[in-house]
Amino acid sequence: MKKRRIVILGGGESGVGTALLAMAKDFDVFVSDKGKIKEKYKNVLINNAIEWEDEKHSEDKILNADIIMKSPGIPDKAPLVKQIREKGITIVSEIEFASKFTNATLVAITGSNGKTTTATLAHHILQQELDVGLAGNIGDSFAKQILENDFENYVLEISSFQLDDIVDFKPKIAVITNITPDHLDRYDYNFDNYIASKFRVTMNQTKDDYLIYDADDEVIVNYLKNNPVQATLLPFSLVKAIENGAYLDKENNIKITIDNTHIIMPTNNLTLEGKHNIKNAMAASTVAHLLKIRKQTIRESLENFQGVEHRLENVLKINKVQYINDSKATNVNATYFALESMSSPTVWIVGGVDKGNNYEELFQFVNEKVKAIICLGADNEKLMSTFGNMVDVIVETQFMGEAVKIAYKMAETGDSVLLSPACASFDLFENYEDRGRQFKDAVRKL
Ligand code: ADP
Repeated sequence: MKKRRIVILGGGESGVGTALLAMAKDFDVFVSDKGKIKEKYKNVLINNAIEWEDEKHSEDKILNADIIMKSPGIPDKAPLVKQIREKGITIVSEIEFASKFTNATLVAITGSNGKTTTATLAHHILQQELDVGLAGNIGDSFAKQILENDFENYVLEISSFQLDDIVDFKPKIAVITNITPDHLDRYDYNFDNYIASKFRVTMNQTKDDYLIYDADDEVIVNYLKNNPVQATLLPFSLVKAIENGAYLDKENNIKITIDNTHIIMPTNNLTLEGKHNIKNAMAASTVAHLLKIRKQTIRESLENFQGVEHRLENVLKINKVQYINDSKATNVNATYFALESMSSPTVWIVGGVDKGNNYEELFQFVNEKVKAIICLGADNEKLMSTFGNMVDVIVETQFMGEAVKIAYKMAETGDSVLLSPACASFDLFENYEDRGRQFKDAVRKL
């Protein structure tokens, strides 16, 4: 019988993982990348005798596919993708393709902010008692993990781009952490398209499945009002009591109720700081409670979870000044929660590539908490004019080392220095990880 041909567009982690799984499942596999494939991935392709090309897309080898797996980084508007759609070839994402080859229980976590933190935390709790992998936008590709060591459960961090190309993907538990405008360039600058994309996570769920979501997020609540879903809803809230789901009670305990089973956990010993992290903890604990993890385990795991690098990460205390790396805050909403969580006067390092930011929602916190601003990046001018009248000192630079040195001079005993850029990092850095590492290196050199 003729093998089914899968063409994989994009030779990165998810593409190469899919190629390996597809080979093992007896597909005829071809990997094509318009850019340069990294050496480590090239070696995997060569060692596994998988046909590939890079720095081009050969249409004759692509348009004869039975199925196409597209890396999430390739936009729908790419001319090649249009051609593929015109030919009627099905395009799927890695999670769609790979999930067909596992019987594991799937937990899918999406949202604009908090995906990595919530997914990592949920995985941290679950792994105390279950056989569970962590995949999606984190670590080793989902497809590769299924091939090499199929777990009984997976926590998957899923972007809207991955969700755009699902067909049958059906998680047992879906989480939508929140929805705020981001990546609108990929959604025709239409927020509704982006919202609908996030909600695809639940489109194949039935009433035996669960959707956990932030009940304080008006965008989510309004969408659900107008577009009812099949899944059983488990909302969480910081501000109101929730009958079936989770909320923060008056004594600051997380209360989770599912089908009349309750658990209550104090939040005063959480290592993670900030209200947004209580939300993330509620979402992750609700997942854990659904999967029957013992209350004591959930509680201990919340208390010993050390957080994720570049997300409100405490770097060092120097002369009683705390330095905090929140480089992953690449949009205004993430920075909102960072500033909200600051309990001491703050020297704030902000800036990078502005994505059409509206800074208004930060004004209150800047007035209350920020004593000085250091603008760092391509779009300093907008920051200087927006915040110029709000703080005593505002300066600008194009160098991380200099930004940190200025912050060091300005900060006094008891203050904090916070890197929370609210912008993309591609002007001065390779990515947000590079930006965070450069910040930490500069702090350590002080
Ligand atoms: P994602 O994977 O969705 O980008 P991360 O967990 O990596 O989310 O966090 C990204 C940024 O958003 C960090 O600056 C972090 O401090 C902030 N953040 C984390 N959780 C939330 C949340 N629930 N709401 C808003 N911002 C958050």
